[in-house]
Amino acid sequence: NAGNGRFIVGGNWKCNGTRASVKTLIEELNAGELRDVDVVVAPPFLFLDEATETLKAPYEVAAQNCWVEPGLVDPTHHYDSDTGAFTGEVSAEMLEDLRIPWVILGHSERRNLFNESNEFVGKKVAHARFHGLSVIVCVGETLEERESGKTMDVIFAQLKAVATEIDDKEHSSWGSQVVIAYEPIWAIGTGKVATPEQVQDVHAKIRQWLADNVSEEVAKATRIQYGGSVNAGNCSELARLSDIDGFLVGGASLKGDDFVKICNTS
Ligand code: PGA
Repeated sequence: NAGNGRFIVGGNWKCNGTRASVKTLIEELNAGELRDVDVVVAPPFLFLDEATETLKAPYEVAAQNCWVEPGLVDPTHHYDSDTGAFTGEVSAEMLEDLRIPWVILGHSERRNLFNESNEFVGKKVAHARFHGLSVIVCVGETLEERESGKTMDVIFAQLKAVATEIDDKEHSSWGSQVVIAYEPIWAIGTGKVATPEQVQDVHAKIRQWLADNVSEEVAKATRIQYGGSVNAGNCSELARLSDIDGFLVGGASLKGDDFVKICNTS
């Protein structure tokens, strides 16, 4: 892989789990032997505390989302803009306070089901970085966009919205602590994994975009994950690609043995 950092695998549990199933899954994960890899597990908010308390190193924990005020003009200068009268939301400040090290932002389910715009996601990323959180930011195209040749336009617009909000002069830098997950929407939860050629092509273009629009250092330091129907059977072929630095796994992250196998593919 081309990113400088270690291979990084995320497990996005989405809105799944009961107290009993979470306990079992955590036991399975703790029983697995991990090689030299960063692993970030993202349970629903209600189970973050349990995961933090019981998952053993090297597992780290991520929230699946956090809030920022959409009207925020400069997310890097507002200290308290994400706490207050926002019923039902969870702020980056709270995640920082609970020592949750990671947050997933801009997942396509958030963008599509909850109408999160590129701009809103960009603000969330910058604000989460401001609070010291490491971020996995998701980008990706729909099938229609791919078929009409718009894949890279869509992804570059998503990246630009993040780059615009992150300000290296302040405390919200874009470096090894921002991971990009390329997740073609047509591959998520469909069993239809993107081909190695499709993945390598997009990842290389994302890295080039970072070199041209952010900096060479950031392009080198940024780890790019692939997500979309990754499983224990198809992960090794993908992991060999030069620009893949990890995976973001949904369905298969709910099965402890499979997830550990995926983590150990690098
Ligand atoms: P999937 O989900 O692995 O179930 O396709 C991936 C994701 O949405 O992160």
